[in-house]
Amino acid sequence: MAYPSHQNLQQQALAYPVGKVVCVGRNYAAHARELNNPVPAQPLLFMKPSTALTDLSQPFPLPNHGARCGYELEVALLIGQTLTRADASQTLAAVAGYGLALDLTVRDVQDQLKAQGHPWELAKAFDQSCPLSPFVEASAIQDPTQLRLQLQINDTVRQDGNTADMLLPIPELLAYISRYFTLQAGDVVLTGTPAGVGDLQPADQLRLTLAEQYVFTAQVAA
Ligand code: ZN
Repeated sequence: MAYPSHQNLQQQALAYPVGKVVCVGRNYAAHARELNNPVPAQPLLFMKPSTALTDLSQPFPLPNHGARCGYELEVALLIGQTLTRADASQTLAAVAGYGLALDLTVRDVQDQLKAQGHPWELAKAFDQSCPLSPFVEASAIQDPTQLRLQLQINDTVRQDGNTADMLLPIPELLAYISRYFTLQAGDVVLTGTPAGVGDLQPADQLRLTLAEQYVFTAQVAA
């Protein structure tokens, strides 16, 4: 439902505004291949508005438009300081927290938009299209370029990836984004999904695990 503020692991509100969500597509080669997409020469960026965010701990509905709503598990970065045309070596210092998000995608609508060469917002930027976890403080993450991310649905592992397999690692991804879009405190960056995407069904039970130790549960509304 509403997403009043970003939260830490203790479910306390963090003192950042809730900003935009910048996302990258096809940042893991195995996922690009599973959707029969070419591995891009340049990162494929898109955005979700702040109204796409929803608290992962609350059951989220599947959208009414389209027939197939897909999940994409992604590492989410909470931006803590402004990044504009930043050098990759400076970007990690601007990340305040690490979490997990679902980049919900109405796959049949996306397929139609892709075929027509149209933007993807109807498929990816709708209300509650970005269930988002609380954030692990950045200082607790030793190496964000080697972070395991896992998604179980109804006790079956569907996605199991590692940020080490990103085509554009997190420091370079943030530098690339900041060449075009200034990132501000409270913005969120979704870093792409590993292989294993599929569709969600009402009442699915989800278990998201970051770095093998931070576990978040979620539920699709019945
Ligand atoms: Zn995605």
